Amino acid sequence: MNIKQLARKNIQALTPYQSARRIGGSGDIWLNANEFPHAPFYQLNTQTLNRYPQPQPHALLAAYARYAGVNEEQIIATRGADEAIELLIRTFCEPNEDAVLYCPPTYGMYGVSAETFGIERRIVPLKENWQLDIPAVKIALPEVKLVYVCSPNNPTGNLINPDDLRELLAMTEQRALVIVDEAYIEFCPEHTLTSWLNTYPNLVILRTLSKAFALAGLRCGFALAQSDIIQMLLKTIAPYPIPMPVADIAEQALSADNRAVLQKNITEIVENRQWFAHALPICECVDKVFDSNTNWLLVSFHNAENVFQKLSEAGIVVRNQSAQPGLDNCLRITIGTLEECQKTLAVLCAMNTMGTAI
Ligand SMILES: *Cc1c(COP(=O)(O)O)cnc(C)c1O
Repeated sequence: MNIKQLARKNIQALTPYQSARRIGGSGDIWLNANEFPHAPFYQLNTQTLNRYPQPQPHALLAAYARYAGVNEEQIIATRGADEAIELLIRTFCEPNEDAVLYCPPTYGMYGVSAETFGIERRIVPLKENWQLDIPAVKIALPEVKLVYVCSPNNPTGNLINPDDLRELLAMTEQRALVIVDEAYIEFCPEHTLTSWLNTYPNLVILRTLSKAFALAGLRCGFALAQSDIIQMLLKTIAPYPIPMPVADIAEQALSADNRAVLQKNITEIVENRQWFAHALPICECVDKVFDSNTNWLLVSFHNAENVFQKLSEAGIVVRNQSAQPGLDNCLRITIGTLEECQKTLAVLCAMNTMGTAI
């Protein structure tokens, strides 16, 4: 029996998401997945593992509502933001009829999730300045139910112009949802769109504890939207998506004490990023360091392939973005500890323009 032929045709054809963990690598400096460099320590407060958890743990929603400045009815907790990306497609898109739209270079899961459900992908590249091509989006809108926009955008690191987002929300009203992925918003909190939720009935905001909160291993994310959207998503989500230990630790992470730690962590990463961005242009192999509102730097090199290789030989794992449209010779380097930034800089500065040893 040929199991491959038994699978759905779109799954037979699917290239799965190339996550940092799936690609792997070897070394002791991991700067490829935008994780926080130190592990936080938590102990479980709840020990009732014989019982099913609450479908949407009330205390967790209350804590995140307080943190984000929204009402509890405007939140759904998910297994990472990745589950929310998929849940929206399963809830709003009719296979073989509807489409999702996104604008590369951007996060890869919007396309992969659409493919697994047989939903057409409308791809409208960002303009050269990495902003939305609003006229091109407008032309591509028929059949589109969901528009995914990442801001700050992974992997380019820039914010999407809020005036363009307003125009997008207006032109999609009554026909599509606009999903703004704020996975990195803690690094530029003044730019969150949460205050728009009461104005725009078709706005959804994605959040996660995986990046600034240093909890990628926990798998906890959120979607924020007006309550009628949240009610629809609650129909589709699995019965007990948030394990009790996850809710327990996530609640602790949102406590006042831990939010002070979060602030300190963000300051450390932003300072390291500024130091690193300032230092990188002295290395011969570096072509350009792009501005970043996040916990990584996108860097273009004269020969990214060789640089990637040399970093990996030195035990430093970064993410190659060269395959994304417009990102030839670009590597994305997560900001780690200051020591990790310094070690990376030393390896880079020991290369010539071609990315070989000086
Ligand atoms: C990391 C990331 C996610 C996924 O976050 P999880 O909560 O870990 O699933 C979503 N969107 C973007 C842009 C990301 O970089």
